[in-house]
Amino acid sequence: MMNKNSRIFVAGARGLVGSAMVRRLRAEGYDNLLTPERDQLDLTNQAAVRDFFHREKPEYVILAAARVGGIHANNTYPAEFIYQNLAIQNNVIHSAWECGVERLLFLGSSCIYPRLAPQPMREEHLLTGSLEPTNEPYAIAKIAGLKMCEAYNRQYGTRFVAVMPTNLYGPGDNFHPENSHVLPALIRRFHEAKLAGASEVVVWGSGKPMREFLFVDDMADGSLFVLNLPDEVLAENLLSYPRPCFVNLGTGEDVSIRQLAETVREVVGFAGKLVFDTSKPDGTPRKLLEVSRLRELGWRARTPLREGIEQTYRWFLDNAERVR
Ligand code: GDP
Repeated sequence: MMNKNSRIFVAGARGLVGSAMVRRLRAEGYDNLLTPERDQLDLTNQAAVRDFFHREKPEYVILAAARVGGIHANNTYPAEFIYQNLAIQNNVIHSAWECGVERLLFLGSSCIYPRLAPQPMREEHLLTGSLEPTNEPYAIAKIAGLKMCEAYNRQYGTRFVAVMPTNLYGPGDNFHPENSHVLPALIRRFHEAKLAGASEVVVWGSGKPMREFLFVDDMADGSLFVLNLPDEVLAENLLSYPRPCFVNLGTGEDVSIRQLAETVREVVGFAGKLVFDTSKPDGTPRKLLEVSRLRELGWRARTPLREGIEQTYRWFLDNAERVR
């Protein structure tokens, strides 16, 4: 089992997910963390990753490194999304096996379920239908990562498991106007509109798609919960193929993009109106996770959406200079 001195490698420690994991681990007293920066370790470089594992001998691995982005970025850089994600996970998962890592936690994403999966989506719905075209390359890479964990568990008896988080947001997010996800994009747009005294804010698409949002600190809490499950619970629930090696990580509740935009508008304090630009894609109509598997194991999300948005907006204001 993990203890406070375990050597824990957080791949992608600078990102939204990785930085939340590091924050959480440090708060819990884990202080033997390996968090190399990108210029110290290029995770797409197979030899560099192998050297790193042989040199540093991590006991636990949190694979939070990934090329991610919103609907526009996924649509614009499909080659980078499939190549970089396949390369990173291939290198890290294989080296983790070679070096006898105790446990590895991979992160999937709710967008890897079929576009028209029954709602809410259960773990068993993976690979039961075609994917949403706007993020298919990303989804294919993530599915390969999950299947790779499963294959290594089956053949080599490793303990490589995964969580499947829904749309994440929070401190450390990417607020890029075009390439980010909807929630940070709207925070920034409403904030800038408020400062400029604008009368309206443009929201992409019809406002009708439904999305579920998980505060990133809740994600870190849930991920650590899974990583620390007792051996026998892990074996029974996540390592007994053909049961999936992953669990959904979400709130179990969703809102429409219009409702989300209204909430962000209130939190930011923008008085103008919303305009929907239907020339922009809507993406999947709905993607709500069915979260009973993790609830039965004893975990549930805590932060209400509005409170999470308030915290994220505060972080955005406090970090205006270093916002990406
Ligand atoms: P998705 O969940 O993979 O579709 O990714 P996004 O977070 O990028 O988009 C979610 C939904 O929000 C889509 O229906 C978008 O059209 C809509 N949306 C509305 N305004 C924006 C925006 O400014 N940026 C992004 N990324 N999406 C937006």
